Amino acid sequence: MHPHCAGLSGQWPCNSEKSQGRHFGGRHPRLPDRQQGPEGSFPPASGSRGPQWCDWRLGGCDRRQAAVQKSGATEAEGGGPSARRLTRRTARPFRGRAVCLASRPARARNCGKRGREGHMICAGLDIGGTKIEARLFDADLQATHSHRVPTPRASADAFFAAVGEQVAWLRERAGADLPIGIAMTGVVEPDTGLAQTANLPISGQPMAERLTAVAGRPLPVMNDSMALAFSEANGGAADGAAAVVGLIFGTGVAAGICVDGRPAARYGGIAAELGHCGMPARALDRHGLGLWRCGCGRDGCIEAYIPGPGLIRLAAHMGLGEIAPPELAARAAGGDAQAEAVLATWADLSAEALEILQMTIDPQIVVLGGGLSQMPGFVERLEAALPARLMPGTPRPILRLARHGDASGVRGAALLARMAAAEQPWTC
Ligand SMILES: [Zn+2]
Repeated sequence: MHPHCAGLSGQWPCNSEKSQGRHFGGRHPRLPDRQQGPEGSFPPASGSRGPQWCDWRLGGCDRRQAAVQKSGATEAEGGGPSARRLTRRTARPFRGRAVCLASRPARARNCGKRGREGHMICAGLDIGGTKIEARLFDADLQATHSHRVPTPRASADAFFAAVGEQVAWLRERAGADLPIGIAMTGVVEPDTGLAQTANLPISGQPMAERLTAVAGRPLPVMNDSMALAFSEANGGAADGAAAVVGLIFGTGVAAGICVDGRPAARYGGIAAELGHCGMPARALDRHGLGLWRCGCGRDGCIEAYIPGPGLIRLAAHMGLGEIAPPELAARAAGGDAQAEAVLATWADLSAEALEILQMTIDPQIVVLGGGLSQMPGFVERLEAALPARLMPGTPRPILRLARHGDASGVRGAALLARMAAAEQPWTC
């Protein structure tokens, strides 16, 4: 896999140049040598006629750089009119468009069926700690088929074998090769291409090589929270918003960032691991809570308090015993004061987490996903609790549930794969 696809650390046209010069003090993963699939594969192998895998990224940067040079201004200064025009184009949110692969080799041209508007069908793998789900999407990015298998936890070999079988299922179901992206927990380090994840048996594995071995070519990989933000910013609950955070309340808590319709550039691929930021001391003091141990081995992480397991623990701590969140919500709706107190405490703690996002990222819209987000009254409780936690005078982000539900993350990965397989408006 191309390290620039892996981990989705924001290696998008022009953004990488900006970050190299402005934000990271010149340290930025260098553009790696292109990696090609085997002869006749999709994308076309080296030496084939037509665009090469990931050329759309490199080409975009090259073109913008040329425009900047032509204008006589430096990249840091933003360049002249032609450069600014290109900048506006790159900042345009992706809306999809008819793509023409006429210059691709015949076999690649046949890969990816087309819908009535010319978009390719595409697919994604949603990889979590319990299941690997393959989803096929039509040209309008609507899920049409899915196939779920348990996630092998015993070894990396078993894990990648299962991934290969799911890729084969997608190709067989589609009747051809097609763009396939992966949304998974954890990250792929931009510099090394090595996976780092707590819930899968693949930490330290070279993703590009392992995926190529089972799928025949590299597959773009996104962190699942980044994929959620990316999906919802393109045809979802945050469509058209300039700054979007996707926030997953599942077994843990994690956030992804999407700016101008594209995943935001990051340095090491870990942002925004909100769940492993510390819960503010003022919040713990307010509710008389101690420093609870987090799964990462540290104490007092946000993830220890507000995702599904955190809420269950909170209910037990407040005297309700083991109770599942849906039952807790039902009891609160039925007038149970104790259940209502637990949910009020949870909402207040969650609002503290949202306030951290607001003060550090300042999103226009926060799209909420994950299993706990399906709890009745989830958004309403957060909206009610948030104002009291915001610093006076600061803007309040809009909270929305993910429009594409539990398929949103894998939809984002599929969209990324489709975009990588086609020339994009901002690069051509
Ligand atoms: Zn932690």
